Amino acid sequence: MSSLSVPPPRCLQKPLTVPHRHMFGPGPSNVPPRILQAGANPVIGHMHPEIFQIMSDIRSGIQYLFQTHNPMTFAVSGTGHTAMECAIFNAVEAGDGVLVAVNGIWGERAAEVAERIGARVNTIAAPPGGCFTNTEIEQALSKHRPVLFFLAHGESSTGVLHPLDGIGPLCHKYDCLFLLDSVASVGGAPVCMDQQGIDIMYTGSQKVLNAPPGTAPISFSERACQKIFNRRTKPVSFFLDLSWLANYWGCDDKPSRMYHHTAPVSAFYALREGLAVLAEEGLESSWERHRKVAEYFHAGLERMGLKLFVPDKTARLPTVTTILAPQGYDWKEITAYVMKSHNLEISGGLGPTVGMVLRVGLMGGNSSQAKVDMVLAALRDALAHCHRSKV
Ligand code: PMP
Repeated sequence: MSSLSVPPPRCLQKPLTVPHRHMFGPGPSNVPPRILQAGANPVIGHMHPEIFQIMSDIRSGIQYLFQTHNPMTFAVSGTGHTAMECAIFNAVEAGDGVLVAVNGIWGERAAEVAERIGARVNTIAAPPGGCFTNTEIEQALSKHRPVLFFLAHGESSTGVLHPLDGIGPLCHKYDCLFLLDSVASVGGAPVCMDQQGIDIMYTGSQKVLNAPPGTAPISFSERACQKIFNRRTKPVSFFLDLSWLANYWGCDDKPSRMYHHTAPVSAFYALREGLAVLAEEGLESSWERHRKVAEYFHAGLERMGLKLFVPDKTARLPTVTTILAPQGYDWKEITAYVMKSHNLEISGGLGPTVGMVLRVGLMGGNSSQAKVDMVLAALRDALAHCHRSKV
C-alpha cells in the first residue's frame, strides 16, 4: 500500500501530443525547425563558460537587432511583461513621475505596473488606432515633468506603428528617460535605439525572432544607467534588479560573475538561433520584407471588401494587422472556423479593441506572400461559410 494520498495522474501516462498549427495570431509565431533544434541542445550549467559565450553572442545579436552600442544589453528570463517590469522597476522609484502614452492595452499595462510600485502616473490618451503628435507629447512632458515616458512602438492590440522621430530628443530636453516597448515591432519595422535617443527598449522572443516565448531582450542607455545606479532605494524586485542582472550577463566591469538565478539555457539557445537567422538575412532586408508583405496583405484584404482598422496607411504595423470585424458576422465564429477548417490561428481584439477587430500576425519567417495567400483564402472561406445576419 502506498502512503501517498495523490496517485500518479493517469493523464501523464499518455504521450505528449502537440498539433502543428499555422500561428498567424499576434504571437507566438511559428518556430522554424532550425530554431526548435537549437533549443534541443544538451542542457549544461548556467555558469559554464560555454553558456557565458552564448550569452555574449546573444548580447551582440540584441545590439544588432536594437541598433545600439549600449553595454547594458541582455535578455530577461521571462516574457515581454517581465521586460516591461524590469524597465519600470529599475528606472522608477516610489513617488517618481511617469508619463504613459495610452492608445491601446500596452499603455494601460505600463501605467498599471508603474502604479503598483507607487509612481505618480499621468497619461496622455489617444483613441485605439490613433497616435500622438510630438506637440501633445511635449505639452505633457513640460506639464508633468516625469522621470520616464512610456510608448508602445508596435501597438499590437490596435495595429498601430507609432512614429518615433524627435521623441527621444524631446524626452531628453525635459530630463526624462524614453522607454519604448518594441515587442511587436523590432526586426519587422525600422527602429534604431541609439540614433533615436531611446533610453530603454525591450522586446519578446516569440514575435519577429520566431523563438519560443520565455526570453525578452532589453537594453539600457548610459543615461538610464546613471539614473538607475543612483537610486535612493533598491528596486522592488530582486529577480529583476539591474545591478544583479548586469553582473550575471557580464555587462559590468566586475571580474567574476555571481549566481543570480538558473538561466533558462534551452531558451537561450533558441534565442541565439533566432538572432542568428535575423543577422543572416540582415535587419534592413527584414524590415523591407515585412513592409512589402504587409502591403500585399492589406491590398488583398481590401480587395475582399474588408476594412483595415487603422485608417492612416503610414501608421499601420507591418507585423500585426487589425481588420475591422466584418459587419453582420460574429468574430468568434470566424476565428473558430479558420482554426477548425484551416488549422490556422488568427485572433480577435485585445483590451480596447475586443469585439472591434480581427488581428493577424505575420512575423519573421511567417512574413511571406505564400502565408498571406493562406490567410486570405481562409478568411474568404470563413466569410462564405460563417453565419451572417442581415445588416
Ligand atoms: N507589448 C506588446 C506590444 C505585445 O504585443 C506583447 C505581447 N502580445 C507584450 C508587450 C507582452 O509580451 P508577453 O505576452 O510576452 O508578456
